[in-house]
Amino acid sequence: MRFCYLPHHFITSSPNPPNHYLRTMFFKEIIGQSEIKKRLTSSVASSRISHAQLVFGPEGCGTLPMALAYSRYVHCTNRGEEDSCGECPSCAKYNKLVHPDLHFAFPFKNAKETPVSDSYISEWREAILENPYFTLDEWSTRIEAENKQLLIPEKESGEILRKLNLTTFEAEFKIMIIWMPERLHHVASNKLLKILEEPPEKTLFLLVTEKEDELLRTIVSRTQLIRMHKIHDAELREALVQRHGIEKADAEKIAFQADGNYAAARLLIDRNEHAAFNLATFQKLMRSSLKFNPAKVLSVVDELAAIGRERQKQFLSYSLDLIRECLLMNYVDQSLVRLAGEELEFVKKFAAFIHAANGEKIIEEFNLAIRHVERNGSAKIIFLDMAFKINELINIPKPVMS
Ligand SMILES: [Zn+2]
Repeated sequence: MRFCYLPHHFITSSPNPPNHYLRTMFFKEIIGQSEIKKRLTSSVASSRISHAQLVFGPEGCGTLPMALAYSRYVHCTNRGEEDSCGECPSCAKYNKLVHPDLHFAFPFKNAKETPVSDSYISEWREAILENPYFTLDEWSTRIEAENKQLLIPEKESGEILRKLNLTTFEAEFKIMIIWMPERLHHVASNKLLKILEEPPEKTLFLLVTEKEDELLRTIVSRTQLIRMHKIHDAELREALVQRHGIEKADAEKIAFQADGNYAAARLLIDRNEHAAFNLATFQKLMRSSLKFNPAKVLSVVDELAAIGRERQKQFLSYSLDLIRECLLMNYVDQSLVRLAGEELEFVKKFAAFIHAANGEKIIEEFNLAIRHVERNGSAKIIFLDMAFKINELINIPKPVMS
């Protein structure tokens, strides 16, 4: 992500972003990347579909949406020149992601009761239908696997083979999308290589990754490369205005900061939506820590415990920004402070409590809390502990400048 500060509380013209349900998995829903779309559609038109393709590019550029739109297009029975029809029997199944000739393998937390990707197929469908631009982090949160390494275990290779050996149900091609194939267990990875060397008839493998350099070279060399690039700023800006109803000037700033990553842009939007809550909560937490008021501290801790892990992390990183702004204001150059409105007013007063003798340590405490939240610790204990530490640190007197 590029570094640049956003105006907080920007105005969106529609309170609820448009619902993308049933509108995913079309080329027209993918931001930018027009050359790749053209290449893929013309490969279908000329019946030159290579049996294994590697769709790769940086996070948030739309690799999975592209693979899905391509699959839908290959399966669509009434396709147009540029996109699927959306209405044929095949498209109707795609609308719910239940086409019998479309298969998936993706990383998950492996356990006895969940031995293959399909154990998570309903979460997977939900994630894609909500927003196919999700990141591995978001996927991990959705399946509550924060503290577990996500992998595609050995057993999955047998599953892949089994599915591909099924006769096609309806379509000409069976399609197997493998998301993040670099997370395949090495035994599974070698088996996949064998399958790619001697693929079953009429199968299409779409390997989708952000880390093609972590894949076995022998696998990469068996695939046709579909290299995607980060989204151009102008295209991302346009998408933010249209899809999220954000004012042009704000969309421009977000697009710049997100640096071609739509997933990052959505996080920034989300963060701004919660800026008012974050500021108010930070103020309460700091005031109740300054003169340690157990009842007030507990009430803030309860509030924070109730908002869920992602929002807690977002609150903590927002707090870190405010603390850094205080240090900037005190020690560097006030003109560098990039806040406005309520936030600026608050930081002007609060900066007096954040200084050389405690600033770094307070930052450490917030970073520690982020790590503990990520590791799934008890939110109440984490925030209570943090409030105790801040109470100590914030009452350290400001050193007298010589
Ligand atoms: Zn169709």
